[in-house]
Formats: sequence, C-alpha cells, structure tokens
Amino acid sequence: MDYRELSSIFKATLSLRWDPVAVRLLRVGEEKPAEAVEPPVPLRHCQSIIAARRGNCLYLPPRSHACPDGAGILGLVEMSPKLRSGELYLLFKKMPDLATARKMIASRPEFPAGKYRATLVAPLAAAPFEPDVVIFTLWPEQAMWMCCALTYATGERQYFKTSGFNSTCADLVVQPMQSGEMNVSFGCYGARASSEIDDFELYLSVPVPLLEPMARSLLKLSQKSIPEERQKIYLHPVLDRVGSRKPEAGEGAQVEIFIDTERCLGDGLCVAFCPAGVLELVEGAGGQQARAVHPEKCSACYTCAGQCPQRAIQLAYR
Ligand code: SF4
Ligand code: SF4
Repeated sequence: MDYRELSSIFKATLSLRWDPVAVRLLRVGEEKPAEAVEPPVPLRHCQSIIAARRGNCLYLPPRSHACPDGAGILGLVEMSPKLRSGELYLLFKKMPDLATARKMIASRPEFPAGKYRATLVAPLAAAPFEPDVVIFTLWPEQAMWMCCALTYATGERQYFKTSGFNSTCADLVVQPMQSGEMNVSFGCYGARASSEIDDFELYLSVPVPLLEPMARSLLKLSQKSIPEERQKIYLHPVLDRVGSRKPEAGEGAQVEIFIDTERCLGDGLCVAFCPAGVLELVEGAGGQQARAVHPEKCSACYTCAGQCPQRAIQLAYR
C-alpha cells in the first residue's frame, strides 16, 4: 500500500476529521524535498502539525522553529540552560519545585542536539518523503479503534507514555521513534495554547511500519464492529423503561423478551450471539424460530436485539 492509499483507508474507516500528518526528522546530509516549503514565519512544532493537517508540506530548519523546547527535544538545537534546568517550568507555575521539574526532564525522551537538521511535515497522502511517524488527530472513539486495530493485528496490549508536557515533540515524535511503538498524547500546555486542536481531540502517533497492518485491521473491523458500535446497537430503548422498575437481583427473570414471530427468520444469529444460553431455535408452524427458553438467565445485555437483522427482538424490564 502506498501512503495515499493508507491515508484514505484511515480516513474512510474512522471518518477522520483531519488528514493524518507525516513527520520526518531530516538527517544531516539529507536534502529537503523540492515540494517542502519553509513557512514565512517561525512556527512551533505543534503549529506545524496543524498546518500540515490543513494540507501544507513544510520544511522547518532550526530558524523556523518558534519553540526552543521543542527544537531542543527533537535534536535540532542545544537546549537553553533555563529550559534544561527546569527553571522556566517554575516561572510558569507548571511544576511545584525544581527537583520535580528536573525529574520530569530527565525522564523525557529526547534526541541529542545536532542529530537532526530540520523537521518535515505534510499530509500523509501527499508526503514527498519517507515519514518516521504519522500523527493522527482523533477523538476518543477513533483512538479506541486505532488501539483495536493494532491489537487485531498483533494480539498485544498497548502501553503509552506521556507526561502532559511536550506533547507533539517528545510524546509524538521522539517516543515512538525510539520505541517503535504507537504513543498517545493529550496535547500539552504549549500545544493547546498555541494551536487549534479542539478540546475534545487528542493525538496518536504511529511509527510507519505499523501503518499497513493497522489499515488492514481497520478494513476488517469496518465490515461489522465499527458500524455496529457507531449505530449503538445495544443501546437500550430508554423510553421503554419509563414507568417500569428494575427488579432486585434474585427475583427471577429481570426482563421479558419479546420475539416477533412475524419478523423472525430463524437464522439463529441471536442464539449464537447470546452469551447466556437464553435463546434456542424451536420448530414452529412456519419452520424454526427463536424462543427465549431460559429467560431467567437473561442479563439484558441487548446483544440479541442488536444482532438480529430483522429487529425482531425487544426487551422490557419486568
Ligand atoms: S436473530 Fe432475529 S431473525 Fe434471527 S432467529 Fe433470532 S430473532 Fe429470529
Ligand atoms: S439480552 Fe443478552 S442475555 Fe438476554 S437473551 Fe439477549 S443476548 Fe441473551
């Protein structure tokens, strides 16, 4: 898959609001691509990500980096002594004391000064360079599916590292480049105060080798799980419960299960999906149909109602 195809799969399956952003740290000796332009004014690294998700392909050497903290963390420049010492975090009242600030700085992933000579950012679909990482702007439900996509491909849990500081530089570029693993960031003081990331958005950064397996997973997940979740197929019909009462545990069956025999096709999906063995297919006048043979076992999870293609099942609390 090329980057254009990957970008369109992520955008389509997750209904992304913004283009995924490709980021590369330009190595010493590497030429900048002709398509990448230097911005007319210096930008913070976080602002350059926003500019790229709007469609810009940018080249930012150290003189175009407005945030000295970010440029230092990315290995473009030597960090100033005031930032390195933690002193500025105290002035901004973002840390309680120097010892805590220094501990946070010491644990922060960084590249050594001079390792890289510029940053390149562009929409993934049009990136004229090989990205190191791809940054996604997401809301939590989309981030959940990104996690599911990686777990679908690997069977493994994800572990994220973030401090709430130095979001787009340390959390979204250095951390995933050093670890080779996806990382999340909720933004930071600087990124949220100086860019237009919305309050309900967060970032996820994906090292390039993980993109294709995740995209393949999303194609599979979007066949059933993603649309079902978005349709909230297990959402209780809230108004059905007005005036009714949820019995205490141990009172016997909690719910009545209504199966519309006019609609039921007898395909057995509800029987297969019910985790409690409540339902069975029984022979009726017109062939097999679903019946609630053990209603006392029903936990009212709504799985059967959500999975029935005929919308033949309704539940009501007794
Ligand atoms: S899933 Fe619906 S149509 Fe299929 S057997 Fe169950 S109630 Fe009938
Ligand atoms: S609501 Fe859940 S437990 Fe009850 S019959 Fe349907 S699938 Fe089974």
